[in-house]
Amino acid sequence: MKQGVVIKSTGSNYLLQSGADRILCKIRGKFRTKEFMTTNPVAVGDIVYFTMQKDEDFGIISKIKERKNFLVRKSTNLSRQTHIIAANIDYAFLMITLIQPKTYLMFVDRWLAACENSNIVPVLLFNKIDLYNAELSKKLESIINMYADIGYKCIKMSVPNNLGIDEVKDTISAKVVVLSGNSGVGKSSLINRLNPDLDLKTGEISEFHEQGKHTTTFAEMFPIAGGFIIDTPGIKGFGLDETIKEHLGDCFIEIKAAAEKCKFNNCTHTHEPECAVKQAVKSGKIHSERYRNYIAILNENDAKYRQDNYL
Ligand code: GDP
Ligand code: ZN
Repeated sequence: MKQGVVIKSTGSNYLLQSGADRILCKIRGKFRTKEFMTTNPVAVGDIVYFTMQKDEDFGIISKIKERKNFLVRKSTNLSRQTHIIAANIDYAFLMITLIQPKTYLMFVDRWLAACENSNIVPVLLFNKIDLYNAELSKKLESIINMYADIGYKCIKMSVPNNLGIDEVKDTISAKVVVLSGNSGVGKSSLINRLNPDLDLKTGEISEFHEQGKHTTTFAEMFPIAGGFIIDTPGIKGFGLDETIKEHLGDCFIEIKAAAEKCKFNNCTHTHEPECAVKQAVKSGKIHSERYRNYIAILNENDAKYRQDNYL
């Protein structure tokens, strides 16, 4: 048996990178992962074992290596089935701009919580800094200070001015990354800068599959800066699953750390007495904006979850 990484899937065929070779593979009818019902048992990023078929130019996948993490979404709003977007992701990049378009910190904090929940390391890319006036630059500094303080890697960038590109390259080196962010923040521009061979039209990454929102779309892995970038068509980010409210405090890492000193070990940091998190917010150790967004997510209703999370 040989080993390879799934770099592209069409639902029934899989393209593998195995050493220097690209190999087409299929799966047998009843192949299913044990953990849960998925519409796609094998996903982009999966490390698989396969055997070439006699007298054929394709292989059969016989086994998937245990995933270190994965991103899922529901295949439809009502379905219990999930679709695995991608597996074995080293970093999730979120591209953020303060103008053109404005990215809301609520969106950033939801996305960070989703990363923590999925066990994926997030990196924040602050793009279009060439457009910022003095006031916005100051605001950017305070936002970066806040996230760096919590422990998140932040990179300031301007794609057309080549600012921050080397740092992004160094971060990617030999890693598998996903790139999220609102439409228009500069994702395709960055990818084109890193790998001109891909020649994506700007706007293509986020808009291309937009009309297929609720149909199954498949991710693809592109070689970039010595590693791989996974393009997730039609998906701006990835969401929080419906059970996350039960452990949302664990998905805000500074809240998780402070919560060790709360009186109750199931403290939600809302109404409970002797809450170390609320004390830390009061003393400024935890940023009040982060705490506000934590509370806001806790109070969101489930319909909003479904709407926002499975785009
Ligand atoms: P995407 O939707 O996230 O893929 O965004 P695009 O890459 O299509 O970029 C949207 C627009 O922003 C395009 O017109 C880009 O040329 C422009 N853009 C991208 N990065 C920057 C930047 O750092 N500074 C400025 N001024 N414009 C940028
Ligand atoms: Zn508490």
